[in-house]
Amino acid sequence: MRQAALPARGPAVSIGPLPANGGFRLPFPMQIRVLGCSGSIAAGSRTTSFLVDGEILIDAGTGVGDLTLDELACIDHIFVTHSHLDHVLAIGLLADSVTRRRRAAGRPPVRVYALASTLTALRLHVFNGIIWPDFTRLPDTTNPVLRFEAVEVGQVLVAGGRRVEVLPARHTVPAVGYAVHGSSGAWVFTGDTGPNPPLWERLKSMPVAALVIETAFGDDEVALARVSGHLSPGQLREELKGLAAPADVYITHIKPGEVDAVMSEIGAHDSPHRIQALASGQVMDLGA
Ligand SMILES: [Zn+2]
Ligand SMILES: [Zn+2]
Repeated sequence: MRQAALPARGPAVSIGPLPANGGFRLPFPMQIRVLGCSGSIAAGSRTTSFLVDGEILIDAGTGVGDLTLDELACIDHIFVTHSHLDHVLAIGLLADSVTRRRRAAGRPPVRVYALASTLTALRLHVFNGIIWPDFTRLPDTTNPVLRFEAVEVGQVLVAGGRRVEVLPARHTVPAVGYAVHGSSGAWVFTGDTGPNPPLWERLKSMPVAALVIETAFGDDEVALARVSGHLSPGQLREELKGLAAPADVYITHIKPGEVDAVMSEIGAHDSPHRIQALASGQVMDLGA
């Protein structure tokens, strides 16, 4: 597929260098490794992070800590959904771990993509020299280990030979989701979100190979879900009516200890979709 045929609604941005095939890895299977998919931490529960093709990180929660140093050093791109700690805390720790190794290998800065307001929040509240050093200026300002790149909803970027589209989300802070396009359709991650009509509008014209959607609270906490910009099983049921075709749906961001309860609430109602809980350590192969 050529870039001219992309369903981009915003400006397409190429991040070089790209493979000789025109920049896309579409003929090749996509692999998503679930590093963390829990709403919080406990033994065996890690917060949100997905590794795509070994070089793209979608969010950087505590699951990143399971990667080896070699695996960490291979990450060239980090797409961040929003500024909340459970999604960003490993960015700075990763930077610290790989600085020496990437510099020795002559690697470019790791690109960190997020909404401009999210990047501002990271600069002010994390990489401020108090909570953590500013790795966008270290080890030196000409070749830092991190480079922040602002994105907008609707934008399609090329990173690691993949097209990554920025999707709308509705949360308590500015937030987005992402679609990573592959040969068998898109791997879609909603990020943290409450009810999100613009997402379903976009997905009407996008082939979805797998949908990873949050359901952070049980129905007994629907009020809390509403004020915190999350979904409960009842809300999920309404949201999934926006998906025209039956799809493989994976539930993420359930709190530790509540997975069985939330999944049984979800399973209590018939759905045309194939719905299951996402599991930490799971590997999703798409387009194989
Ligand atoms: Zn959040
Ligand atoms: Zn979260």
